[in-house]
Amino acid sequence: MTLQKKIMLEDSELPKQWYNLTPDLPTPLNPPLGPDGKPITPEMLAPVFPMNLIEQEVSQQRWIDIPEPILEMLASYRPVPLVRAYGLEKALGTPAKIFYKNESISPVGSHKGNTAIAQAWYNKQFGIKRLTTETGAGQWGSALAYASALLGLECKVFMVRVSFDQKPYRKMMMNTWGATCVPSPSTETQTGRNILAEFPDTPGSLGIAISEAIEQAVTDPKGETRYSLGSVLNHVMIHQSIIGLETKKQLAKVGIKKPDVVVGCCGGGSNFAGISFPFMYDKVNGADIKIVGIEPFSCPTLTKAPFLYDHGDVARMTPLLPMYSLGHTFIPAPIHAGGLRYHGMAPLVSAALRDGLMEARAVHQSECFEAGLLFAKTEGIIPAPETTHAIAGAIKEANIAKEEGKEKVIVFNFTGHGLLDLVGYEKYMTGQLKDYEYPAEEIAKNLEVLKGYPLPV
Ligand SMILES: *Cc1c(COP(=O)(O)O)cnc(C)c1O
Repeated sequence: MTLQKKIMLEDSELPKQWYNLTPDLPTPLNPPLGPDGKPITPEMLAPVFPMNLIEQEVSQQRWIDIPEPILEMLASYRPVPLVRAYGLEKALGTPAKIFYKNESISPVGSHKGNTAIAQAWYNKQFGIKRLTTETGAGQWGSALAYASALLGLECKVFMVRVSFDQKPYRKMMMNTWGATCVPSPSTETQTGRNILAEFPDTPGSLGIAISEAIEQAVTDPKGETRYSLGSVLNHVMIHQSIIGLETKKQLAKVGIKKPDVVVGCCGGGSNFAGISFPFMYDKVNGADIKIVGIEPFSCPTLTKAPFLYDHGDVARMTPLLPMYSLGHTFIPAPIHAGGLRYHGMAPLVSAALRDGLMEARAVHQSECFEAGLLFAKTEGIIPAPETTHAIAGAIKEANIAKEEGKEKVIVFNFTGHGLLDLVGYEKYMTGQLKDYEYPAEEIAKNLEVLKGYPLPV
């Protein structure tokens, strides 16, 4: 057989350093701001995150050594294969070569373990005993539950109500790894109680769940609890860079110097940053690479929202972050891609878009499920609903290559499998899913509360 389907790396070829885009941005990052509009100090974040992660959050270092114990834990599933999508290429009749980075083979079924392991390790090093977090579709909660089990930490997860009801197996996974999972808004926090009093039937949102998780971390009288965020923050983007760094080595193995197009789906921005930032490094240094982020029309942060300062959560407990945002009070329509429903976008991804290092496109849910089904039938793996956005993006690029008659190299991030998301597929196949575009007037309304806030420069 001469066909090369999977490009593998040895354990010894795991990247030993993470990449940080911060020092390579054309315009410096705007700092996070406190309630008084002044840049926050690391000490102000100390009740929420351990200092070793805060140091990484503000790091200007381009390459950051990955501690050996983290590499050893990552090695239980990494390096993950880069796979040539021959079946999909054939179905599309495209001259493009399509590759996908298969992050779905991790124990949690997505890329989220990459940062969960790192964050749990840094917290443990710092003497923390218990982690709190939020989860949308349940992927991040499962990942932190898994990593906490590896390191012997307690883990408490606030899961967005609508997903808690739609995806009971996610909670069972978390419980199996020894974590606790409650629906958010919950009665366990002041934020949750306030929201339930006003909106007893709310489907919840990531913004609400984040507020609850932070509140529970900072009110631990013993000071042994910290909060952990699965996306958005700089240190998460850094941890996920291992995806793109492996991909580069794998492309080199089959003689490809650079891809023509890199595609990722965008929720909070972490998997997109992971696959694309190492290629943005090349782009900053002159390489011609098209980098595209794909998001749902129902949560159009990159394609419709303005770039401004906003809070990461509904109770305004987080500092103000410079990002594209739909407003922290945004309550998304209950589409099935739970992981793509966050109101903001990682400051680093936001900066990359503003500085022209990438472009963004919105897609409808039906186009995504159609792409997901085609992928399942041609490549075998059933993708997570979030992942189908990246597939739809890659298919679009492959069709462009077909029109142009060019043999382009397209790489996309296959972020996770959809084996716990089959209800979404069922609804699509039985015609119960509606496309929904978030109206511009609603965005304007959400953003009214931000009047008088400082603006990024
Ligand atoms: C969480 C998640 C996403 C989106 O989150 P990012 O931080 O934008 O990567 C995408 N795909 C899957 C499978 C996820 O679990």
